[in-house]
Amino acid sequence: MIIDVHTHIGVNLKRLFSGLYPPIQAIKDLLIKMDIAGVNYSVSFPFESSLYDDPRDYYENIPTGLMEFPYQIENQVVLDHVKNLGEGRILPFISIDPKRKVREQLTQIKTWVKKYKIYGVKVHTKSTKTKGSELINSPFLKEIRRNNWPMLFHSYMQDVAHPLPILEFALKNSDIRVCVAHMGGGIKDFYDELIITKPKNLFIDLSPFLANCKDLPFDSKTRGYEILDLDYEEPIKALRELIYRFGDYIVFGSDEPFTTYINPIEPSLEHRSTLTEEVDLIKKLSKPEFKMMAETNPKRFLGVKLKL
Ligand SMILES: [Zn+2]
Repeated sequence: MIIDVHTHIGVNLKRLFSGLYPPIQAIKDLLIKMDIAGVNYSVSFPFESSLYDDPRDYYENIPTGLMEFPYQIENQVVLDHVKNLGEGRILPFISIDPKRKVREQLTQIKTWVKKYKIYGVKVHTKSTKTKGSELINSPFLKEIRRNNWPMLFHSYMQDVAHPLPILEFALKNSDIRVCVAHMGGGIKDFYDELIITKPKNLFIDLSPFLANCKDLPFDSKTRGYEILDLDYEEPIKALRELIYRFGDYIVFGSDEPFTTYINPIEPSLEHRSTLTEEVDLIKKLSKPEFKMMAETNPKRFLGVKLKL
């Protein structure tokens, strides 16, 4: 069985207005890609930005007045499309903005819980300008605990998205399962701390791994972060090393549709891969390693039983 813990459904108008590919993915497109690649289940949530904010400004969050709270429509679309078209294979997470319109979001979430099956919560640290540690005493945690939801945090070589504050959150809330996305940018300090603190409730998705193998060495130089010493030129070697050293934490995630993305902000970064190529790569692992990454660890993270 293959479970992908990180995909997006919907539209990101900030990306559209900035000419950034990809700005969109429909649920049926994701399902076709899953069929081709042989993925059984995918966790899906909205793209990083919400039309709560003006799409013409990529960096600042300036409310448009079009929604009552962030991700209102984007979450609704994910939940409706999954319910009507998800074939029981798409496991929806809802996105939250930890700092703005919290009461309004919580009221809506309590209504959604009655109508939809929700599998977890996504926090886009960068888009919502929130560090992981800023959620340690968040009012959202009561609802998260009540539903036994796991949380997935965007993480990368960005101050606000740094994986160490997310690890701090996980250590202080050891009853909540936490996933650090995008390898946590491969930041070495985080992995060193992992070896010392040994959290039982932490997971790491490598999404999108083939792109990360190209980005990480470039970004570590331009952004000034020390990253794990891996053979990034040979993704399968890098993957085997990661599994050998941190296998208990690693879950499969593709970040589809971001297996292909073109980023004019840093023009050297141009990746054209596919979900199938991501899956083919992890199939090169030994059978026990493959099962741990694609099935056992994702099931532990989600805390649910899934059938083939
Ligand atoms: Zn993503």
